[in-house]
Amino acid sequence: MKQHPLSRALVLAFGLFSAPPLSVAEGLPDLGEAAQTEFSPAMERRIGESVMLEIRRDPAWLDDPEVNSYLGRLGNRLSSQSEEQRQEFEFFALRDSTLNAFAMPGGYIGVHTGLILAAASESELASVLAHEISHVTQRHLARLINKSGQGQVTSLLALAVAILAARSNPDVAVGAAMAGQGAAIQNQLNYTRDFEREADRVGLGLLERSGFDIRGMSGFFERLQKFGRLYENNAPGYLRTHPLTTERLSDMGNRIQGRPYKQVADSLEFQLVRAKLRAQEGTPRDAVTEFETRLRDRSFAGSEAAMRYGLAQARMREGNAAAAERELSELRRLKAVSPMVETFAAQLRVKQGDAPGAVNILRAAHLRFPQERAVTYGLVESLLEARSPSDAIKVTEDDLLSYPSDAKMHGLQARTYALLGKRLQQHRAQAEAYALLGQVPAAVEQLELAQKSGDGNFYEQSQVDARLREMKKRMADEAKQAKQK
Ligand SMILES: [Zn+2]
Repeated sequence: MKQHPLSRALVLAFGLFSAPPLSVAEGLPDLGEAAQTEFSPAMERRIGESVMLEIRRDPAWLDDPEVNSYLGRLGNRLSSQSEEQRQEFEFFALRDSTLNAFAMPGGYIGVHTGLILAAASESELASVLAHEISHVTQRHLARLINKSGQGQVTSLLALAVAILAARSNPDVAVGAAMAGQGAAIQNQLNYTRDFEREADRVGLGLLERSGFDIRGMSGFFERLQKFGRLYENNAPGYLRTHPLTTERLSDMGNRIQGRPYKQVADSLEFQLVRAKLRAQEGTPRDAVTEFETRLRDRSFAGSEAAMRYGLAQARMREGNAAAAERELSELRRLKAVSPMVETFAAQLRVKQGDAPGAVNILRAAHLRFPQERAVTYGLVESLLEARSPSDAIKVTEDDLLSYPSDAKMHGLQARTYALLGKRLQQHRAQAEAYALLGQVPAAVEQLELAQKSGDGNFYEQSQVDARLREMKKRMADEAKQAKQK
């Protein structure tokens, strides 16, 4: 039988949590006796993290810092309005055309690209995030498990795995069977009616306090229901895990009734993210035609700039750099200010063999938007493309002072050291990238290569030795815990 990639996460996390005594397990805070019967947010976070390790390797994982940081900003704008301020969140996108979004233990919230594209306004997308955030802050997953009285950690993890398995696959049983929990999981997967109502109520508050149009919530859910009728037994995944009842809709209607109408414009970023995702759908030709048609017929909501940006992206995808440049000039003429326009302009330069041109664009953008991860990544990449690794090293070093846990930046630094021929530093940086992604054996392997490189000074060598000892210990601890299971 082919092993489902998630079953690894299951084994991994069982390993993490089954080693007695729980409180001394590496990295786990001392949770005391209560932890055995009640979930702590820290435990939920660990479970979420172990599942995320696998999600990041899933082919559907959208490794796009622009889309993910947009979702992060939107999500944080909503969650900052929550009374529960200790909860951390991470928002990410999965390339999947089905309409779905889901919350996992620990505040990890996934959104399908299909749902982002189906939202008619930013308030609608925000309403789905607000609902999911509320499932997390109200600790619904943990409460479901506590109610069921089953093995605690096992159940929560199995539930997280089942959520993922059911993400776009109607056959929820796959997840349940894999988790060895039988039908119980399937029942748990559906939030209860009370939890749904609570998530709607709390989510609506977040939506309102964040300045969105609260009608976005009922609007989107009504549309989902319509989709549901259209598909009959094959309702959108979202409705399977968040059952929508007439009662829920009328509850929402009651809360919204009498509130003043509020017109909220979609942000340019929302429009650009959607245009970028749309430009990647279907064949490049289809995407070009769609944007051209909409621009010609002026059949689009929001800004023309976003349509031009989408057309430019589709043109680049099609391999027509000249046409993409023409759209880019139009975009500039429309005065669309966004780091996304700059990273695109730089990519287009690189595609045309002008890496120094890309560096210039991104140097300016980096000063203007210093916190945009995509801009900094792009700057390092274009410096590498332009064969300026010594400049690239400076950018990575400065950046890692502010973002020491950025695995992607450590990986870029490893590539830069490779170009400079510094092998010890290359493998050491790559080891940090793996360690941050939880891939400890790969980190150990890199540190061993660093040891053997023979091109570091005494100080660097001893740093590698010390780090290797730490990583080997972490690997041994994890292996021991997995065995005890
Ligand atoms: Zn729900």
